[in-house]
Amino acid sequence: MSQRILNVALESDQDVVLVRQRARQVSHLLGFSKQDQVRIATAVSEVARAASLGGPGARAIFALADLRGGQQLEVSINAGTHLASVQVGLAGDPAIVTAHRLMDACEIADGAGGTAVVMRKALPPQPPLSSARLAQIGAELASAPTPNTWQEVQQQNRELVETLAELRERQEDLLSLTRELEDTNRGIVALYAEIEDKAERLRKADEMKSRFLSNTSHELRTPLSSIRALSKLLLDRMDGDLTPEQERQVRFIETAATDLSELVNDLLDLAKIEAGKVETQLAPVVVENLFRALKGMLRPLVTSEHVELVFDNGGVLDAFESDEGKISQILRNFISNALKFTEQGSVRVSASDEAASDEIVFAVTDTGIGIAPDHLQLIFEEFAQVEHPLQRRIKGTGLGLPLCRRLADLLGGRVDVVSRTGVGSTFTLTLPRRFPAALTGGADDTES
Ligand code: ADP
Repeated sequence: MSQRILNVALESDQDVVLVRQRARQVSHLLGFSKQDQVRIATAVSEVARAASLGGPGARAIFALADLRGGQQLEVSINAGTHLASVQVGLAGDPAIVTAHRLMDACEIADGAGGTAVVMRKALPPQPPLSSARLAQIGAELASAPTPNTWQEVQQQNRELVETLAELRERQEDLLSLTRELEDTNRGIVALYAEIEDKAERLRKADEMKSRFLSNTSHELRTPLSSIRALSKLLLDRMDGDLTPEQERQVRFIETAATDLSELVNDLLDLAKIEAGKVETQLAPVVVENLFRALKGMLRPLVTSEHVELVFDNGGVLDAFESDEGKISQILRNFISNALKFTEQGSVRVSASDEAASDEIVFAVTDTGIGIAPDHLQLIFEEFAQVEHPLQRRIKGTGLGLPLCRRLADLLGGRVDVVSRTGVGSTFTLTLPRRFPAALTGGADDTES
């Protein structure tokens, strides 16, 4: 629903000046801000100028539209004719582009008064205007003087000066905002530098940790070897007979020294990889040969008649280029874990050729205790072990899987696991069929 406020004929250039003044007066009485008054006056006079070229009968109608979103000023500039050419001409007119920018909406439509341009702008937030107030506005407009062209030019000049002043103010605001942004940027850059500095210090600390581990482990290796050799001498009765109690105690010493040696060896391996001191020995790897060697090495670990260890080369016959020793080390760890955590069923070691991705996948599947989803990532962290009654009976360092992951990285591959508690786990090693050129060379193996 809309209520008419004012009707202005647009028959001469003088009328275009008049409609501009009227637009300013109407928008002022409707409560629009000074800036909006200038916007509305400019949009209306521009469109009126374009429409009055359409011919006689053109007019501007100011009305208050009551829409769902609230009250709006609606200005229709009727061209006074129905010619399609008017519509086409108007559609391309810069006046319409201006009106689109300055008003909330601007449409070209065919109405009773001919082709019309309808512009709308929502009233500023205020209590809705009543019909009585509208009638009052109508009366005020009727009695308001309509200044002459000279006064209008003066008024426009004033508006221009105000707009320029406002523009300058905005420019200054923008400048100060830019300065603020620059300061913030400088702050961020400083923060980045600090973070980099911290990262560098962390890297150094990590390096020191690796060096410390490597040195300490090295220092421990020699005495541990002596303890094991001496225990063996004693157990072999080279120094005379032992009482059963002495034998039991020496066996304790030997087992403890062997466990410690394993820990020291794993620590040394990890430290060496972290220090980039591990070299890959590339050669053609034949799965069948690799599995045969693993079978020989691991058979002694199958201590229960309820668990069988099965190897299946999956028909992978072609050799591929990689480091057999490291693959064997990874699979040995998978298999010994699988055997440790499986009381019944099987441990299956298989290989498959993934032609699509040009990869070889080794999988070790067991029917053991499985691993809960929460722990699947944790077990790849150093010294992480999952709490389980079986775990307490079994030795282990918690370093095997982290080492496997690092070794797989060295080979350009990856290690993954899927598992279900109570059902079993599958650990996989995926390797590229062709060893990545980027990983060859560069390492210096300075010690063994
Ligand atoms: P370790 O076996 O020496 O403890 P690992 O890093 O090889 O160290 O393994 C870490 C932990 O992951 C194990 O202690 C065990 O809790 C869990 N785990 C590894 N493999 C299996 C498996 N096949 N089934 C169940 N749990 C496993």
